Amino acid sequence: LTKHFPLPGGWAFWRPSDRVVKALDGISFSIEEGTTFGLVGESGSGKTTVSKLILLLERPTSGEIRFAGTDIARLDSGSIAGYRRVAQAVFQDPYSSLNPRMTVGELLAEPLIVHEAPSRDTVDRRVRELLDIVGLNPASGKLYPHEFSGGQRQRIAIARALALRPKFIVLDEPVSALDVSIRAQILNLLCDIQREFNLTYLLIAHDLAVVAQVSKTCGVLYLGKMVEICSSEDLAHNPLHPYTQALIAAVPVPDPDSPEPQIIAGEIPSPLNPPPGCRFHTRCPLAQPQCREKEPLLREVAQRRWVACHLV
Ligand code: SF4
Repeated sequence: LTKHFPLPGGWAFWRPSDRVVKALDGISFSIEEGTTFGLVGESGSGKTTVSKLILLLERPTSGEIRFAGTDIARLDSGSIAGYRRVAQAVFQDPYSSLNPRMTVGELLAEPLIVHEAPSRDTVDRRVRELLDIVGLNPASGKLYPHEFSGGQRQRIAIARALALRPKFIVLDEPVSALDVSIRAQILNLLCDIQREFNLTYLLIAHDLAVVAQVSKTCGVLYLGKMVEICSSEDLAHNPLHPYTQALIAAVPVPDPDSPEPQIIAGEIPSPLNPPPGCRFHTRCPLAQPQCREKEPLLREVAQRRWVACHLV
């Protein structure tokens, strides 16, 4: 899957520009039904672009996005509505993702009315059911989003995502705007709902602990390239790619006897002009001469384990 964003042509803005931001450059991964795939990486790695492509908010430059066998990137507008029923999203900020002028009951009823046009009784019953699933009082339906705490608002956003009984949910930084004390509750709720309704999740997060706690399989993105795909246990305890190792080493451990966290040297380079060879070579402590010239391919180095590094 590739997504390049062309830049405007400067003063000759009517001409197509040959300068492109290479947000994603030929990545590939699959998500097993009923499981969570966690995607990690620094800002600028391409995580949000993956989310936008899968939610059809952007079209890929090339490549396929297969959902239950169908390439959704090439669906016509009639079929897109069907995909949007089964693929939903929960975003980072529950403050801006809920319309402040609508009551919670109206927010939860809206997708049902738009897609299914059921009777008033059916809508009311489903709204009460959704509030119950996410652990909110049925009387909450009469209140407005600003009358809830951040954690409760994220519960409302999750209830709204569940309204049309989806099969797949993109969780784009679902807990990073919440207090630390609330995060575990929301993550537990997401796990319970997944088990109950056999949901499949793509979890996008920069917090490795969150990804390792919830995901079965994890992918590590760096500057538009997938550099490692592994289980969550391997991500936390046995990372193989030098970038994944650096991400783990940068996590602070709340133990005075633990070594200080090691911050990754340098900044992530610009996706406008990514380094040749291995894109991580400008920051990699193990870089060899060949890393500057030859791009390492993502290879299966063990069962269900893929790494893109010349040394692994
Ligand atoms: Fe480092 Fe070379 Fe491996 Fe890239 S290919 S991660 S530069 S050792």
